[in-house]
Amino acid sequence: MHRPGHNPSDVQMEDVLCDFCAQPWSVSRAMVEGHNGACICGACLAVAYRAVALGGLDDRPPGTPPTCTLCLETRAEPHFHSPLRDEAWICRRCTKQCAGVLRKDPDAGWTCPTEGSIP
Ligand SMILES: [Zn+2]
Ligand SMILES: [Zn+2]
Repeated sequence: MHRPGHNPSDVQMEDVLCDFCAQPWSVSRAMVEGHNGACICGACLAVAYRAVALGGLDDRPPGTPPTCTLCLETRAEPHFHSPLRDEAWICRRCTKQCAGVLRKDPDAGWTCPTEGSIP
């Protein structure tokens, strides 16, 4: 997401906020962008990846399925829910896709969680 009040014709790194923790994009915080300016930072992605891609967790409540913040789709698969922002969800597919993006980006300095790193 973008910081409220930013200049759309001159978007700075710090105007880009993670939809899951609301922290700004920075050289030390990698960011993956989804649809509609939605973003997830490397730290949140690592938590989400560990939960839904490795741990098989599913935060979806019974009843109305959530819409993934990154792909804007409502998919019948496990989702990770931001503990900080109620409206932020990421589906398992996006979790894996974003992890693939960051893993290939040498500047991101991002290490993909592995089975062995589950606490
Ligand atoms: Zn984040
Ligand atoms: Zn998605």
